[in-house]
Amino acid sequence: MKANCWHGTQNVQVNNVPDPKILNPRDAIMRITKTAICGSDLHLYNGFIPTMKRGDIIGHEFMGEVVAKGSAVRNLQLGDRVVVPFPIACGHCAQCERDMYSLCENSNPNAWMSEKLYGYSTCGLFGYSHMMGGYAGGQAEYVRVPFADVGPIKVPESLSDEQVLFLSDIFPTGFMAADMCGIQPGDTIAVWGCGPVGQFAIKSAYMLGAERVIAIDRFEYRMRIARDRAGAETINYEEVDVHEALREMTGGRGPDHCIDAVGMEGHAPGVAGAYDKVKTAMMMETDRPVALRQAILACRSGGTVSVAGVYGGFLDKFPMGAIVNRSLTLKSGQCHVQRYMRPLLKRIEDGEIDPSFVITHRMRLDDAPKGFSIFNNKEDECLKVVLAP
Ligand code: NAD
Ligand code: ZN
Ligand code: ZN
Repeated sequence: MKANCWHGTQNVQVNNVPDPKILNPRDAIMRITKTAICGSDLHLYNGFIPTMKRGDIIGHEFMGEVVAKGSAVRNLQLGDRVVVPFPIACGHCAQCERDMYSLCENSNPNAWMSEKLYGYSTCGLFGYSHMMGGYAGGQAEYVRVPFADVGPIKVPESLSDEQVLFLSDIFPTGFMAADMCGIQPGDTIAVWGCGPVGQFAIKSAYMLGAERVIAIDRFEYRMRIARDRAGAETINYEEVDVHEALREMTGGRGPDHCIDAVGMEGHAPGVAGAYDKVKTAMMMETDRPVALRQAILACRSGGTVSVAGVYGGFLDKFPMGAIVNRSLTLKSGQCHVQRYMRPLLKRIEDGEIDPSFVITHRMRLDDAPKGFSIFNNKEDECLKVVLAP
């Protein structure tokens, strides 16, 4: 089959690779009908994630048709059309039973690697390094889905692939980011990043009762989508001082809760940006937490800073003093997608949201390298690339 493979920094290639096979009774094989490129894939692309190997198949946002299944997969039939969540989870361990699927204790065969960096292991992820299990990803014609009796959900024929594809990741991720804020009616939420995750965080904050959402980015076309399609007010961080602007917009108190939808590759103009760039280049810092620092300092005292953006390792100049002295709460996590898929599918069916609004580019799987390049460089007004094998 054909698959998009990682070959090093800013080097992905569509290669011919062996077809996946059923290895366990709880596996299924999917023929992929749609797959997407995620902001998290850019961290692989830009070489920020350790334990990648040449030839690894990447991709963790995908859906398709069940074409083979192991003997223990009774909930799915051959031919079923399903969306697959990006965290691989067994459904029965102590963490899965708490609905904390991205912490599944049974799905990462390389737990020891992840324990070294994080203390305890995370779950396995599709197409996201050997530390995260070394599973082949879904930017491919076929994929093996472990624990297929737990993760994939069937989707109704009345909804198109593009309407349901993002249940695999970015819609639940944006929703969880808003959910972690504990939004009360009347609240103002600030969202750093108008990428796909930021767009879903904005929409979700409104669904959960926010009165105002203020979104921050520098790409005008992304802020336009945040305003026109998601209903946010926007701030361009290259034009104004974000902290002052937010203070002014919120009666001097700051947004009630802040969401970081940027992650480890944050960009900053001027000296602060140069500082993090140099430190990451010299391996003295693993991430560039510019948005996170700002979100912490901007948040109203007593508010929550909810971090959906992915960070990999060790941050520098982390304003812990603000967290302690202003009673801030910090919440984060790889999304527990399985927890949110069914309720969010219901919101799509009810017409509350059509997640396809983020799609700007539709391409063939063969064009994945081009898709990565334009999404990474924010060219051609790219917000989200969907690939069809
Ligand atoms: P993206 O790269 O398309 O969007 C990031 C946006 O942040 C860009 O528009 C960029 O201009 C903006 N940005 C950069 N620096 C900024 C700053 N200082 N202030 C404000 N905005 C800034 O990516 P995406 O697909 O939207 O993903 C966003 C983040 O969410 C990534 O880190 C990704 O890894 C993460 N993510 C997390 C989960 C999870 O489960 N927690 C799931 C999916 C994605
Ligand atoms: Zn993702
Ligand atoms: Zn589990």
